[in-house]
Amino acid sequence: MNIEERVRSLLKEIPENVKVVAATKARSVDEILRAIDAGIEIIGENYVQEALKKYETIGDRVEWHFIGHLQKNKVKYVVPRFDMIETLDSLELARVIDKHAEKNGKTMPVLIEVNIAEEPQKYGISPSMVKDFIKDLTSLRHIKVEGLMTMGPLVENPEDIRPFFKRMRELFEESKQILPEMKYLSMGMSDTYRVAIEEGANIIRVGTLIFGPRS
Ligand SMILES: *Cc1c(COP(=O)(O)O)cnc(C)c1O
Repeated sequence: MNIEERVRSLLKEIPENVKVVAATKARSVDEILRAIDAGIEIIGENYVQEALKKYETIGDRVEWHFIGHLQKNKVKYVVPRFDMIETLDSLELARVIDKHAEKNGKTMPVLIEVNIAEEPQKYGISPSMVKDFIKDLTSLRHIKVEGLMTMGPLVENPEDIRPFFKRMRELFEESKQILPEMKYLSMGMSDTYRVAIEEGANIIRVGTLIFGPRS
């Protein structure tokens, strides 16, 4: 299958309420435009410079989600261009996003990144701290917390990630009791998106599945 066929078959397969973020790191503008032509409406970029370069050509015909680790000194470039930051992982970062959102006359939609398996090398809020973190964010008026996101641990068998996705879903439900307007649970990648959807994801982020293995 080519890019267009893979996009169409994915969109046909998944429930209508599930949004697909095409993870486009290291993919060319040409490949991305083909995915958009086939029905992709959101692209996810990990690196600021790379994203800004692609934005010059692709522009606002799609939504832009930031899905990489965001450094505080890059926030000023991300806030005006992006429609969502999926990887909010510290209060310091939240304060910087809030400041730049205010400057831009904008309320920035964010997801809280959760380090669901508490892996030392991974970014994200520890699951036990998420609810306190949400409360800490309520004073920041130019940030809108719209949900939770996780990478999850690397697994050999997609079934092995199910318990972590289940825990994310529970955390999402508990978080909604504090902040009822939370609506997105972003989890699942090319290998694990089916399990993620079964466990309640309504945003999946897929790269390889659409574009093939990276060269
Ligand atoms: C690359 C990436 C994905 C997609 O990974 P695939 O295995 O290629 O589907 C999803 N989320 C994040 C944060 C990524 O960096």
